[in-house]
Amino acid sequence: MYVLNANHISKSYKTAGETMRILQNVNLQVMKGEMVAIMGPSGSGKTTLLHVLTGVDTPDDGEIVIGGETFSQLTEEEKAFFRRKHMGMIFQDFQLLESLTVKENILLPLILERKEADIQQERFSRIADVLGIEKLADKGITEISGGQKQRVAIARALAMEPELLLLDEPTSALDPISTSKIEDLAMELKKDYTIVMVTHNMQQAARISDKTAFFLLGEVVEYGETEQIFSMPKDKRTEDYITGRFG
Ligand code: ADP
Ligand code: MG
Repeated sequence: MYVLNANHISKSYKTAGETMRILQNVNLQVMKGEMVAIMGPSGSGKTTLLHVLTGVDTPDDGEIVIGGETFSQLTEEEKAFFRRKHMGMIFQDFQLLESLTVKENILLPLILERKEADIQQERFSRIADVLGIEKLADKGITEISGGQKQRVAIARALAMEPELLLLDEPTSALDPISTSKIEDLAMELKKDYTIVMVTHNMQQAARISDKTAFFLLGEVVEYGETEQIFSMPKDKRTEDYITGRFG
C-alpha cells in the first residue's frame, strides 16, 4: 500500500513577468515502511516538492494521495488539520519557537489537538528517551546546541506518531559527528516510520535510504532502489551527478 502517491505534480512561479517551471510532471510513490531520499543539486526544486506534498504550497497540476486520502482535494483548513495529524515535518531551519521550552515545542501538536495531560506526558517521555533529550525538557531553545535543536525538531515531528515523516536536509546545519548521529537515528526510525528525506548529500542518500529519486531542474530523472541508482544508474545525468561530472 502506498502511504504517498503523488502524480503529475507541476508547479511554476511567476517572477518579474517570467514564468519559471519549478516542478515538471513529478511522480513519486512511497510504500509503507520505506525510506525514500530525494537527492539533487541546490535549486532543483526539492524543497518546493516538500512544500507541495505538505500543502504549504499548492501545485498547479497533479494529484496527491496520502494514506488513502486525496490530500490535494482538501480545503486549506482540512489540509492543515490532516497535516497535523498524519504528517511530521522537519524543516531545514528547525522552526522551533523560542518563546516555548523544549518540552512545550515537542508537545505543541498534542496541545493544539487538546490531548490529555497524561497522554502528553507519556508521549514526551517515550520520544525524549529515544532521542536522548529527557534532560533538556525545561530548557529554552536558545540554550541548546544545533545538534540538540535537530533532535527537538525530530521529536516534535514524531509527537503525533504520523504516518509520514518528511525531512528537508536534516543534517545540512550540523557538524560531521552530529550528522552521523542523526543518520544513525534515521536508521532506527526507519523501522517504524515511512520517511521522505530531501538531501543534496549523495553519501547520505546512499547510506540510509531504501529508494532514491534523483531530481534535476524540477524533474525526477530517475527513481528506484538506492543500490541500483548508485551502482547502475540508468540515466546519464544520474551517472554524471554521482561520479561528480555534473554541471
Ligand atoms: P532546492 O530545495 O532543491 O534547493 P527549491 O525548491 O528551494 O530548491 O527551489 C527551486 C527553484 O524555485 C529555485 O530556483 C528557487 O529560486 C525557486 N523558488 C522557490 N520558491 C519560490 C517562490 N516562492 N517564488 C519564486 N521562486 C521560487
Ligand atoms: Mg531546499
